[in-house]
Amino acid sequence: MPILKDFFIGLSQNQLLNSAAKKYGLKLGAQNVVAGTNIEETIKSIKELNAHGISCTVDNLGEFVYKEEEATEAKEQILAVIEAIHENKADAHISLKPTQLGLDIDYNFCLNNLKEIVDKANQYNMFINIDMEDYGHLQPSFDILDELSKEYNNVGTVIQAYFYRAEKDIEKYKDYRLRIVKGAYKEPEEYAYQDKKDIDANYIKLIEWHLLNGKFTSIATHDHHVINHVKQFVKKHNIPNDKFEFQMLYGFRKELQLQLASEGYNFCTYVPFGKDWYGYFMRRLAERPQNLNLVAKQMFTKKTNTMIGVAAGAFLLGRMCGKNRHK
Ligand SMILES: Cc1cc2nc3c(=O)[nH]c(=O)nc-3n(C[C@H](O)[C@H](O)[C@H](O)COP(=O)(O)OP(=O)(O)OC[C@H]3O[C@@H](n4cnc5c(N)ncnc54)[C@H](O)[C@@H]3O)c2cc1C
Repeated sequence: MPILKDFFIGLSQNQLLNSAAKKYGLKLGAQNVVAGTNIEETIKSIKELNAHGISCTVDNLGEFVYKEEEATEAKEQILAVIEAIHENKADAHISLKPTQLGLDIDYNFCLNNLKEIVDKANQYNMFINIDMEDYGHLQPSFDILDELSKEYNNVGTVIQAYFYRAEKDIEKYKDYRLRIVKGAYKEPEEYAYQDKKDIDANYIKLIEWHLLNGKFTSIATHDHHVINHVKQFVKKHNIPNDKFEFQMLYGFRKELQLQLASEGYNFCTYVPFGKDWYGYFMRRLAERPQNLNLVAKQMFTKKTNTMIGVAAGAFLLGRMCGKNRHK
């Protein structure tokens, strides 16, 4: 499995395939995990989830932003989503990635973009979550959070349990609304636990700590072992429902999402949308290669004829040949 994981993480970072994918609509099964390519479709998906008592955090997909025009375009799109959420009285807030707003171009440029977004959201009493990316962007993202916190309190972030430093970070940011995750990127041993057991153990430890000491905890996982553990833990420690929520990604474990909401837990679905779906989709395949059946189904039911299709096809063929060799 680690080889597959590395393979898809490698694909997620391929800029050529990323820009090829942008030219096409949602392909290869991405439509199952991406809510739409525009705001209208996305609001419709949010409203459907809201009708089941599920709130949403909305992410305008985008990676490899190295030009100011692209970062500005992303900012405008996020401002438009905020407006649309407000106008449609949808139960939703925003998740965003600093690199999409120019962190790789210039720190202050990125900070100003975020300020504009947080300010607009603040007018509507809307929360903004700063998603966490790879280790190289971790400290600058926390620095941006610190800067924004001087003026605003409608902002929070993510703690990635695979990092050794996560324990210190969660203590420092205990008065923030925090999303706690295992971590999605490939990180070196120098900074991060590599073993799933270690990551899972640290994940539970951080969740428990923040539930007991922190402001509001978003437990973002598809792992039913963790979810069941949290259910028991909050019961044992009398932690009220309004102190935490469960989060999952759009399209994943839909029945469990509905079940948790119907059991009375706060539930929030992470709703990604936009044309730039490729890197996000590849990271989801990296986490759970079983999702490959999404790709396979699409390849065999529709003629995709895209570079991405060819790449995934070559990969599947490679796997099949590999299997045959072993037989
Ligand atoms: C809402 C949300 C926001 C996120 N934000 C970030 C972020 O900002 N930065 C970041 O680095 N990462 C983020 N992530 C990704 C996260 O770090 C993990 O990579 C990702 O969630 C996979 O780990 P997991 O906890 O879901 O469970 P895993 O460790 O992938 O799975 C554990 C077990 O759960 C079960 N399981 C998992 N998925 C399924 C499924 N689809 N169907 C059936 N059983 C399943 C299986 O038994 C599996 O063995 C986010 C994840 C979510 C859900």
